[in-house]
Amino acid sequence: MKSDYPLLKQIYDFEAFEKQGKDLVAQLTKHLKNAQHPDSRANNWLNPKEELFFWQNYQFQNLPSFVDDLLNHSIHLHNPKYMGHQVSVPTPLSALMNLVSGLLNNGMAVYEMGQAATAIERVVVELFCQTVGYDENANGVMTSGGTLANLTALLAARQAMPDEDVWQNGSQQKLAVLVSDQAHYSIDRAARVMGLGNDGVVLVPTKKDFSMDVKALKKSYQNTIDAGFKVIAVVGSACSTATGIYDDLVAIGSFCQLHKLWFHVDGAHGGAAVFSAQYKPLLKGLERADSVIIDTHKMMMTPALSTVVVFKDKNKGNQTFHQKAQYLFEDNSIEEQWYNGGLRTFECTKFMMCLKFYVLWKTFGIEAFEENIDCLYGLGITFAEMIKQNKEYELALEPQTNIVCFRYLKKGFDEQQLNDLNKTIRQNLLQNSEFYIVQTVLNGKTFLRVTLMNPFTTREHLEKLLSIIPDFGLY
Ligand SMILES: *Cc1c(COP(=O)(O)O)cnc(C)c1O
Repeated sequence: MKSDYPLLKQIYDFEAFEKQGKDLVAQLTKHLKNAQHPDSRANNWLNPKEELFFWQNYQFQNLPSFVDDLLNHSIHLHNPKYMGHQVSVPTPLSALMNLVSGLLNNGMAVYEMGQAATAIERVVVELFCQTVGYDENANGVMTSGGTLANLTALLAARQAMPDEDVWQNGSQQKLAVLVSDQAHYSIDRAARVMGLGNDGVVLVPTKKDFSMDVKALKKSYQNTIDAGFKVIAVVGSACSTATGIYDDLVAIGSFCQLHKLWFHVDGAHGGAAVFSAQYKPLLKGLERADSVIIDTHKMMMTPALSTVVVFKDKNKGNQTFHQKAQYLFEDNSIEEQWYNGGLRTFECTKFMMCLKFYVLWKTFGIEAFEENIDCLYGLGITFAEMIKQNKEYELALEPQTNIVCFRYLKKGFDEQQLNDLNKTIRQNLLQNSEFYIVQTVLNGKTFLRVTLMNPFTTREHLEKLLSIIPDFGLY
């Protein structure tokens, strides 16, 4: 390197990297150890204004002290008292693969820019295709997150409509997707990005157990086509986000088959149960879906972002992005060019996200994912039992997964007061407790909500949570 750029020489110095890397791994290891300590907190709350003030006035000294401050100001998913949102407690091994991907920076848009990652991604996708129950005509792709995966699948569904080529011509008809009122908001967002608007997202009512009411689906479908819409797809949630309940995929699949509709399953969270013998029955009918998405950064122990989208018919997935980019892709025989990932994804450059799943799989075996599902879903059922046995609490519904909704009760309180009380409890827990849990609203009632993501959460932690909640409602 030319000596007139001394800084660059220093920045890229690999000996410094070795030292910094060793120190950083030691520091993070200590962090992981601390997270197991009984007195440790899952988070240290500051409000957005305070947090911004802290960083605006921050005096950066060196990497170790910065990382210390960062750790103190971040939420700790490895703490067994973390029970909030559905993000995985990442395995250290997978986190190391994030480092490898970051360092190699193979962009994967075209084969030459990521040959190993492209082939490994295909190996991972093939595993998912087989596990879902597809035959060799299936294929898929990995995307940066479930939100983009849902958009990718719905775009494929739209392009698969026999009498329209929306990609070429724009939409000539009013289009709609049907999805339950409990679906994740990314479906609604994807549909709006596709130009479907308010009326193009038809919310099918749910039953008392919060799964899609398939009788109502028939009615919604009829109303939608009577109103002059063409239906692109029906989306099943497996499971839904708020309550963790699975839609009846067999029933929705049969409906779609009868009416020749694309059947998409949003399995961002719960699709991973297909790897568990015990919980796979929740996904009965999954193999009927035309497309399925599964996040590995939720129930499969990898860091974000890493999502697998699979298509029952690989050609349908391949035809989504018809656009030509001649400077990148030599000819247009997309089907043959599975190895040019950019032809089949919305993304151009992307992270080598397959590595974090692949290494975990190859190091510990496929059973690792089964164990994780069994452990965490089992913990959800354990917690629900504990709530049912405690008269101070009400369980919102029997959980099917590691997502449990419940509320604290107080004699003489009306619904409004109970809502206010549970909101107060959740806010006080966030600000002042060692636990991290969230909340949700179901049929107008505010519930506390946990997602048991951490396999080191025990019955004792759950007992402690239930025992401290009353105190946090007193403020
Ligand atoms: C989390 C989630 C998503 C969104 O996935 P991201 O990876 O966060 O973008 C979509 N659908 C469901 C059911 C989810 O739980």
